[in-house]
Amino acid sequence: MISLVPCIQVLPDELVNRIAAGEVVERPASVVKELVENSLDAGATRIEVDLKNGGRSLIRVTDDGCGMDPDDALLALERHATSKIRSADQLDHIATLGFRGEALPSIAAVSRFELLTSADPEVGGVRVTVDGGRILGADAAARARGTTVEVRDLFFNVPARRKFLRAPETELRHAQEGLWGAALARPDVAFTLRHGTRVLIDAPLASDPSRRLTDLWRNTDQVIRFHAGGGGEVEGLLALGSGRGRPMLIFLVNGRVVRDRLLVGAVMRVLRAAGSGFGGSRIVLDLRLPPDEVDVNVHPAKAEVRFARSGSVFALVERAVREGVAASQGRVAVGKLEDGDAWGGVAAPQAGGYGELIRQRHEAGGPPLFEHPAYGGGFETVVDDASRPTISAARDALRSGAKSGPADTPFGRLIGQYRDSFLLLEDDHGLVIVDQHVAHERVLYDRILRRLAGEETPSQGLLTPRLIEVGEARAAAFESVAELLRRVGIEAEIFGHGTIRLSSVPPELEEEEVDRVVEEILDRATALDGVPKRAADELEEEVAASLSCRAAIKINHSLSGDEQRALLSDLVATDNPYRCPHGRPIILRLSQEEMERRLGRR
Ligand code: ADP
Ligand code: MG
Repeated sequence: MISLVPCIQVLPDELVNRIAAGEVVERPASVVKELVENSLDAGATRIEVDLKNGGRSLIRVTDDGCGMDPDDALLALERHATSKIRSADQLDHIATLGFRGEALPSIAAVSRFELLTSADPEVGGVRVTVDGGRILGADAAARARGTTVEVRDLFFNVPARRKFLRAPETELRHAQEGLWGAALARPDVAFTLRHGTRVLIDAPLASDPSRRLTDLWRNTDQVIRFHAGGGGEVEGLLALGSGRGRPMLIFLVNGRVVRDRLLVGAVMRVLRAAGSGFGGSRIVLDLRLPPDEVDVNVHPAKAEVRFARSGSVFALVERAVREGVAASQGRVAVGKLEDGDAWGGVAAPQAGGYGELIRQRHEAGGPPLFEHPAYGGGFETVVDDASRPTISAARDALRSGAKSGPADTPFGRLIGQYRDSFLLLEDDHGLVIVDQHVAHERVLYDRILRRLAGEETPSQGLLTPRLIEVGEARAAAFESVAELLRRVGIEAEIFGHGTIRLSSVPPELEEEEVDRVVEEILDRATALDGVPKRAADELEEEVAASLSCRAAIKINHSLSGDEQRALLSDLVATDNPYRCPHGRPIILRLSQEEMERRLGRR
């Protein structure tokens, strides 16, 4: 079922960076998010974001934060270079938004990138230009204290990813929604967002989130504020909408903007129970939980969190939103919000952040935060490829942890299969765990979409045709999907009342699984009837999803070492090896730091 690859190669650095970019950089909005988080970590009080063409041609983020000196600016472009954590025990109380040191190099690997920064205008700043991960130059440049990062032509060197970018308006909307979240989390920072010459966000310093909310959504006239406590605190804002469309939800957990299915589920459940009328409304939930009950270190883009007691978080959120919904029946006016006290301390910048560290360092006149042997003397104005290995070698020397063995797969050195279900690997940073079923599903999904797009489809004739009873209703939808099924290798025809006769199936699919795929597709086709144009695309996705799920190797299925390696090399070639098409993670990382911390070694 899995093709074997004859030889294994270690990936070049540039490719590794592009793979990491898959974890952090999905679209312009994720670039904006990472850059804005860096600016916040740098203690900025004013952040300006400029986009062109939905961020596809240009993303520029300008801040007045602490800036970087020339040495640090170069170092920042190395993978896993961060000034924000130095030892693993700090992972327990991460006060900064970033901490992995992956964003800048990942973004620079997939764009034409420029970093202009200065920590001290008297000493002077530096402009570093990078093209698709290659440092082109670093020159002295003047700038007031702060940083400007320009990202042009995102994914210009990764056509497969560029293809997945949506229309500029869609990308812009995602970026704007992300920025709303950041702006609500930090009303003590001024934000602007421009698209070309159009100003979409102009939020001056605000005293509290409800004030900020009215700055962001100027036409919002009804804002309801609600609250619930117990095992944590939730402060909420509800702005009623037109009654149509999906509600927009923004979640802050301990000051971070997160996306989380559990939280969305809790809110939607209450809204559904409350009936219609909340369409198009906007809900902001600010959760404060004890830090040791939330783990932010689970997702590369840090957008997801893990709750120690998810049941009680769900209940807490439900209770809060019910309050809001109840209050909305009596419609509170905005004016009432402003004479209340400030909003649960959201505004307060967290102590101990990056900006704070920098300030302390300046005040104490102490050594730089991130000492680096390669930068002991002077600063080279041009970094060419030949000098890059020196930087990485020095960086490696700095790393205290044990080294893994040589990588024999794109994701590190294969250790083996755990319980016939998960592939275990080690890389320089720790343990890598791959879910074999989801990984294979991802591989097949991409393959099936390529077939739907016109690639040749292998199909296997059945010796004895197979009859499937689907019932009259489903059989009625058959004609509308027959062609689609044929394109993925399923040849079938109507065979009397409510019965379908199957003559060929794709080679990946076990015969018994075909029935389920055909039934699922007929169900979807029946449900989607009436929206023909959109239905066509959606059905293609559905077919690919259904087929790949049914055909993928299951858990509890033993694989030889060669098969495991082949699966991993197929996986790395997919559009996004880190997420299944429906967002489920494929790969889990347990860093060495985390391991040592949990085992009490640090
Ligand atoms: P992380 O944020 O996880 O540390 P990044 O790749 O995003 O990793 O950034 C690397 C480092 O570059 C940061 O730790 C910080 O020292 C520095 N840096 C990035 N952006 C800025 C900025 N806007 N102002 C000051 N320093 C920055
Ligand atoms: Mg960062």
